[in-house]
Amino acid sequence: MAAKVGILALQGDVSEHAQALADLGADAVGVHTADDLAAIDGLILPGGESTTISKLLESSGLFEAVASRLADGMPAFGTCAGMILLASEVLDGRPDQRSFGVIDLSVRRNAFGRQVDSFEAEVDVEGVGSVPAVFIRAPYVERAGEGVDVLARVDGHPVLCRQGPVLAAAFHPELSGDLRLHELFLREVT
Ligand code: GLN
Repeated sequence: MAAKVGILALQGDVSEHAQALADLGADAVGVHTADDLAAIDGLILPGGESTTISKLLESSGLFEAVASRLADGMPAFGTCAGMILLASEVLDGRPDQRSFGVIDLSVRRNAFGRQVDSFEAEVDVEGVGSVPAVFIRAPYVERAGEGVDVLARVDGHPVLCRQGPVLAAAFHPELSGDLRLHELFLREVT
């Protein structure tokens, strides 16, 4: 049976990820409930607003269910707000904001390119090549732990990181039309 990829569908740019997965011929499903979660082999956490997604994860009762799948080693790919939700430490977050802590990163919200809010860059991804990257109020990785592989940098600074089955991008591969990072993640899932 083909692997099924879930997209956390509480808030954010869910449809853009769904389109990227459809373009790759992957079997994708929006995750709204713990039942949806039971059927998937990997999870994408989209860009959006990490504070809002955190709140909705709690109110929907999904937080613990997702945390338990992640603890069992389910592959995950977080983009922008999704990176924040996967990180071990969130700086400049709301006091009640929660994260899953499955990639050893300290990320500061809204801190990448503070003066411009959003920008685009070509980033050179290890093993993939140069990919277009859209940054929107992006998190700034202040610390990457020893167990983290940094796959891409901008101005010497980590923007794409991997730890085991968890991939986290400070930017939005789902907005560029370039499918190679989704492809990279799908290789992890299948
Ligand atoms: N600034 C947002 C947050 O803190 C992330 C922005 C994004 O996903 N484009 O959640």
